[in-house]
Amino acid sequence: MTRCKACEHPDRAVIDRALLGAGQSPRSIVRRYRGISRLEVQRHRDECLAQNERKETA
Ligand SMILES: [Zn+2]
Repeated sequence: MTRCKACEHPDRAVIDRALLGAGQSPRSIVRRYRGISRLEVQRHRDECLAQNERKETA
């Protein structure tokens, strides 16, 4: 259903952890992982990860 490049990325779990756990910026993440743009990572963080958070706290 979701057409998110980050969600479909093979290293998605690592990217998620970098965003949330380590609090890394999308810019530093796209430097490390090919095939994904900064905007995709930002959207993933703001939409996909924010939704997960909302679901857990609701
Ligand atoms: Zn996503």
